[in-house]
Amino acid sequence: CGIFAYLNYRVTRTRREIFETLVKGLLRLEYRGYDSAGVAVDGPKKTDTDNNKNTTCIFKTKGKVKALDEELYKKDSLDLDEELNIHFGIAHTRWATHGEPSPVNSHPHRSDKENEFVVVHNGIITNYKELKAYLINKGYEFESETDTEVIPKLTKYVYDNRENDSITFSTLVERVIQQLEGAFALVFKSRHFPSEAVSTRLGPHTHTHTHILTFHLVPCLSIGDDAIIEHTNKVLYLEDNDLAVVNGGKLSIHRLSQQVGEDPVRAIKTLQ
Ligand code: GLU
Repeated sequence: CGIFAYLNYRVTRTRREIFETLVKGLLRLEYRGYDSAGVAVDGPKKTDTDNNKNTTCIFKTKGKVKALDEELYKKDSLDLDEELNIHFGIAHTRWATHGEPSPVNSHPHRSDKENEFVVVHNGIITNYKELKAYLINKGYEFESETDTEVIPKLTKYVYDNRENDSITFSTLVERVIQQLEGAFALVFKSRHFPSEAVSTRLGPHTHTHTHILTFHLVPCLSIGDDAIIEHTNKVLYLEDNDLAVVNGGKLSIHRLSQQVGEDPVRAIKTLQ
């Protein structure tokens, strides 16, 4: 399992180059073992009639990264020659813990059919059942059997119930991860925050997969230790509860300050 994310900020890349970078990143993480793979990128599929540019597209396949790679270049995929000056793409290889290997259980997972928030996750969310029940009660419809899917849904829930419009992506993610128990490396992407990337991790390391987060940014940053070198010579490691936020091409890292109480569902209620 592994995560690879690639943000080009004020550096022009064609969508083909972005796909190539994401796939290459995943190929380098292959040795860690996985059963399926997926990516999320921006833009409409060629078949999308409304041609809304402000949309996020998800591709997921069971099996090898090669199968995903083929999927990306199919005729009805996105415009490969389109140049994107700011873009954040996320990619994932999954080693299933909850839900069989299948396209729908593969990552990225999404908040809703519009893909407002998409998330890739390595690890396990141990309190996902509780969170899922809570969100179902709030009208959310789940499509996968994974523990992960609660994360994008919870993100949308917190976003939709925000008390003011100026909430930052970072604050939003903080609120979400305060509800999560288990072990995780996460990367969040949202069309509400188009040039922004947020990633975070938390132990304990009870899970057999190590939680290495590989997070590539052009021109100058990489976090993790697997797929580096090509784009940067700078490497930063995230500690537990660190949030790495890239906004306006600038990276900042801060540690989650306050923790909420024991009962995650009660804690969610206090967010309302
Ligand atoms: N628990 C998540 C799932 O089963 C993530 C597994 C992983 O680390 O790849 O989908």
